[in-house]
Amino acid sequence: MLNFELYNPVNYVFGKGQTEKLASLIPANAKVLLAYGGGSIFKNGVHAQVTENLKGFEVVEFGGIEPNPRFETLMKAVEIIRNEKITFILAVGGGSVIDGVKFISAAVNYQGDAAEILRKRILFTDVSQVIPFGTVLTLPATGSEMNSGAVVTINATQEKLTLGGSALFPKFSIVDPTVITSLPKKQLQNGVVDAFTHVMEQYLTYTHDALLQDRIAESILQTLIEIGPDVVENPSDYKLASNFVWSATMALNGLIQKGVPSDWATHMIGHELTALYEIDHARTLAIIGPNLYRVMFETKKDKLAQYGKRVWHIEGNSTEEIAEQAIEKTVAFFHTMGMKTKLSENTEDYAKTADFIVNRFEERGWKAMGEKQNITLEKVREIVELSY
Ligand code: NAP
Ligand code: FE
Repeated sequence: MLNFELYNPVNYVFGKGQTEKLASLIPANAKVLLAYGGGSIFKNGVHAQVTENLKGFEVVEFGGIEPNPRFETLMKAVEIIRNEKITFILAVGGGSVIDGVKFISAAVNYQGDAAEILRKRILFTDVSQVIPFGTVLTLPATGSEMNSGAVVTINATQEKLTLGGSALFPKFSIVDPTVITSLPKKQLQNGVVDAFTHVMEQYLTYTHDALLQDRIAESILQTLIEIGPDVVENPSDYKLASNFVWSATMALNGLIQKGVPSDWATHMIGHELTALYEIDHARTLAIIGPNLYRVMFETKKDKLAQYGKRVWHIEGNSTEEIAEQAIEKTVAFFHTMGMKTKLSENTEDYAKTADFIVNRFEERGWKAMGEKQNITLEKVREIVELSY
């Protein structure tokens, strides 16, 4: 097992009706910026619930954070916080609103051009330099409610880039599984596939000796396979909803990453597809993931076979046979979850995608990725072309 530090200070407040605790979680006398997205919280009652529980606090509202949050929009909130002397941010929404708030939190006291936070991948480790924030989660998928990473798009240059650091954990996250009943089916499907792929990025590498980590990862995958198809049809079933939401958090709250190698190339390539074509984040992962496993088959086949045996109960004669079937099972699962796994099924304008992505990675100096740093730019090209 690799050495690790496990630090996660998020007060994770889970269950029906937990929004009632909101006032007790925010520092008394805080001046609060309530940040939200395109307005779904007005339709499903979450806004009313939150404001009811914020009585007594001075609150300024900031709406309009887009799915795949835009730097340009977030900078408007940064200005408001500076001008209005806001001391606490409350993110109410899915991964986009929470990620957006992480960026806002970091940018308020950043000296210099805030785009550098993304382009230079500045790490934020000093809590006194960021604005504290909490979250009320409305969409299980990203794990952003219990991690310190975020993804933000610079609209002007169509770049989708990451930021993070230990200072950017939420102070608390209120996670009430009943909020998923208002999600469109498409977003429920996205949530299952994003969470599933988060586990795969940290699990589907090479075989190693961190036995417990593998078993935890496999149990999250199995839970998502068991409940995924049903929860999208029946999100008001609390057993399904609560297990889905907790699985999505566990997939990316840092726990399964400890002591093991990780890949993340599916996400890195997928982000480019969203930046280029606005394909939903999870749908980019369903396009890229299986093709990455195919192209990197030699390096990943032992782990693919372990995954095939333990998660899908595939019986076969050879490692290769089980590993290949495991990839096909994964694709079939993604289809069940409503994904279209070819790029050409998601956009007509795909012919130059590989050139574009490879050029971008080259410009950024990204020469190799993956757990063995052997996903070179040639491999990236192969993966993207195989996904056409
Ligand atoms: P999202 O972009 O936050 O939300 C997608 C859509 O769902 C929005 O239109 C949103 O509407 C709506 N929605 C949210 N909750 C709803 C509810 N309860 N009822 C009805 N509609 C609701 O989706 P997401 O998948 O959670 O986040 C995706 C972003 O997270 C991407 O940018 C991705 O790259 C990033 N990401 C981050 C991490 C991380 O670790 N930080 C990991 C993976 C991905 P409103 O706009 O009205 O709220
Ligand atoms: Fe993701």
